[in-house]
Amino acid sequence: MNENNNVAVESALADLVRANRILANEGVMDGFGHVSIRHPADPGRYILSRSLSPELVTRDDLMEFSLDDTPVDPRGRSMYAERAIHGGIYRARPEVNAVVHNHSTALIPFGVTGMPLRAIFHMGAVIGSEVPIWDSRPEFGDTNLLVTDHEKGMSLAKALGPRRAALMRGHGCVVTGESVREAVFVAVYMQANAELVMRSRSLGEVNYLSDGEIRLAADHLFKPLSQDRAWEYWSRRAGCA
Ligand code: MN
Repeated sequence: MNENNNVAVESALADLVRANRILANEGVMDGFGHVSIRHPADPGRYILSRSLSPELVTRDDLMEFSLDDTPVDPRGRSMYAERAIHGGIYRARPEVNAVVHNHSTALIPFGVTGMPLRAIFHMGAVIGSEVPIWDSRPEFGDTNLLVTDHEKGMSLAKALGPRRAALMRGHGCVVTGESVREAVFVAVYMQANAELVMRSRSLGEVNYLSDGEIRLAADHLFKPLSQDRAWEYWSRRAGCA
């Protein structure tokens, strides 16, 4: 690997550490949940922390996996039980370079009631026009709800389809991005959007964003101007500026 490549990889790993800290600090993840990136120099691999609370992740905790979720150099480290989420989505979605999985309690009601999670404010437009729900039970019956093998990872990726995010019934969600900054942005505002839907519905019927508004607002929010501003702000708040 040449020097430029090395610099790019180290910079991506630093962003991944930061993504872990930000998602914990913003209350999207607690002791659980994880975020990965596709390897910037090898699309056939992804990078994910060893089994650890996101707030505690450092550069040395990051491990490489092949897309079938096998660790490249395990060195006896314990691994997240649900890494099949990551491999399943990277295999199905070549344009995806980052995956977030979290258990935000604000999202759970939308996976279990039939009340759809739709964009309610401009920042929430980044979730897209439709957030599908993956339910493990019809296909796998009673389980511990965890995505612990390829079959479940592939089933989840299939429910996600081409969309940016999916809910997991009685469990949490997955969020994807073309970059880790994008995936963090969507994860943070998906949670905020869910909280706003619940508060608004207690007052009355909701006037959601239209598909056209979602497209136009999301186009704006995924521009570097917005992405960089959010990243800088969340990084500082998480103590890694
Ligand atoms: Mn989980």
